[in-house]
Amino acid sequence: MIICKTKTDLTQALSSINREKLSIGLVPTMGALHLGHASLVEKARKENQIVVVSVFVNPIQFNNAEDLKHYPRTMENDLKILEEKGCDIVFAPSPEEMYPQGEPLESYDFGLLEKVMEGKNRPGHFNGVGVIVGRLFSMVNPNKAYFGEKDFQQVSIIKDLVRQMKHGVEIVPCPIIRESDGLALSSRNALLTKENRKIAPIIYSILKESLSLSQNASLSEVKQFVERRIKKEKYLALEYFEIADEDSMQSIVNWKDAKEQVGCIVVKLGDVRLIDNIRYHKK
Ligand code: AMP
Repeated sequence: MIICKTKTDLTQALSSINREKLSIGLVPTMGALHLGHASLVEKARKENQIVVVSVFVNPIQFNNAEDLKHYPRTMENDLKILEEKGCDIVFAPSPEEMYPQGEPLESYDFGLLEKVMEGKNRPGHFNGVGVIVGRLFSMVNPNKAYFGEKDFQQVSIIKDLVRQMKHGVEIVPCPIIRESDGLALSSRNALLTKENRKIAPIIYSILKESLSLSQNASLSEVKQFVERRIKKEKYLALEYFEIADEDSMQSIVNWKDAKEQVGCIVVKLGDVRLIDNIRYHKK
């Protein structure tokens, strides 16, 4: 496994790969790797000749300085996991390498996609994601890139980014990997206190209850059910719960307003912001 810390190292590592026209799968991450990330790397390993994983805590996608400061960083362990999973190239640049002083940042317009949920609640977040992923696509020029459906809206943003860049990369959405108690794996779970870690699985159990309820209930009944259930939990603070059209990510009011419906939730538990979602498949 080759570890590249600079763009020059990366270009050099990729030069013979490009000469031989080997297929490249890219997995962008912010490190603190867990089995969710590992599932993306495994899929990339199966589908490509070369696997590139980026490990970079992207400062410009954080709209909260404290969140950035406390974001877990576990490079040594990350490298162990990546070696085990058969990654070929790790790209782990410094912020200065990725964003040289004085170099302007790209500015993307994701239209309505960025006006809701994560886009609305975290100003600048998706532009930051677009800038880093766009730069990674330009540098690595992958055939396929792998993203988790845990960040459901992000997948739509990335697909739109690819359209804007007119890049040929295929975006491969990957299913959410969960702990045995249902909690979606996340680097931020490491920041939960022991007590809050025990509480956190309630989020997914409420989502699952809402899925059962959805079989015979209207969309607004399901929405109210989730909001009420979260509000009943003393330690959970609901940031949003929206049921949206999977394609447009815009909120809908009736099941039939979308071909596929996804319920997206963000809950604060202590200082930790947890994100999750569930699909309803209402015909
Ligand atoms: P992050 O390091 O949090 O930026 O995540 C890097 C990639 O891993 C993103 O595409 C995430 O959606 C994905 N990911 C994170 N957690 C999970 C999970 N539990 N299951 C599947 N994919 C995940």
